[in-house]
Amino acid sequence: MPELPEVETVRQGLAQWVTGRRIDSVEVRHPRAVRRHVPGGAHFADVLAGRTILDVRRRGKYLWLPLDSGDAVVGHLGMSGQLLLQPPGTPDETHLRVRFRFADDGPELRFVDQRTFGGLAVSEGGADLPAEIAHIARDPMDPEFSDEAFVAALRRRRTEVKRALLDQTLISGVGNIYADESLWRAKLHWARPTETMTRPAARLLLGHVKDVLTEAIGAGGTSFDALYVNVNGESGYFDRSLAVYGREGEPCNRCATIVRRDPFMNRSSFTCPKCQRRPRRPRL
Ligand SMILES: [Zn+2]
Repeated sequence: MPELPEVETVRQGLAQWVTGRRIDSVEVRHPRAVRRHVPGGAHFADVLAGRTILDVRRRGKYLWLPLDSGDAVVGHLGMSGQLLLQPPGTPDETHLRVRFRFADDGPELRFVDQRTFGGLAVSEGGADLPAEIAHIARDPMDPEFSDEAFVAALRRRRTEVKRALLDQTLISGVGNIYADESLWRAKLHWARPTETMTRPAARLLLGHVKDVLTEAIGAGGTSFDALYVNVNGESGYFDRSLAVYGREGEPCNRCATIVRRDPFMNRSSFTCPKCQRRPRRPRL
């Protein structure tokens, strides 16, 4: 599933390719891709025709395109969604769900989604911040993210540190891969109770979260899934830099102890048992 660095990579590509362009027409090829647009696919296409895209913005893993009407197109890639720029006339992708044609006859924007867990919707009056995603916390790359507020909120929680990192109401955009990498760098076990973390330890962890996300964005994301690609259909290469995630049975880059995998919230947590000591009294 795409995480923040992958979605940010898509955002940067889109911003470059669609900002300032006027939508000529929209073709909805599968109703499921616009299921969150309650008035339906025909309405979705109607309200977008003739509108100009002003920018491409992101909150957590949601993207939105503010329009000159004051509305916005909100998008989520889900498990397998792709937003691709393609020259008009390029053969349709097998899983093409929505096509945007532009008045300048330049590259089309295509929403392609094999598993159709992602989708697009129009948020009425949502240009500044769509109401549908206003509950999602800012991510640590957001210029208005408050480090001190995060540190204080984290230490007030009564939970395991990794659960806190994945809680989108506390901090957004940190998924399983980047949580594991940040915890390894901070030498923290995923089950560490948040209330036992000192302020400096919480600050240090946040610093590592930012570093990991910054590096992953610089690498164009992690190509953990062949379906994740940027707007030009290319995948990222941060997977080459992963220290623990997906490395069960391999030696830790820091101490050569064998990396282990634990089941965690229907997924996995990867840790170095020496660098990241399990807390003595894990939270139940
Ligand atoms: Zn180690």
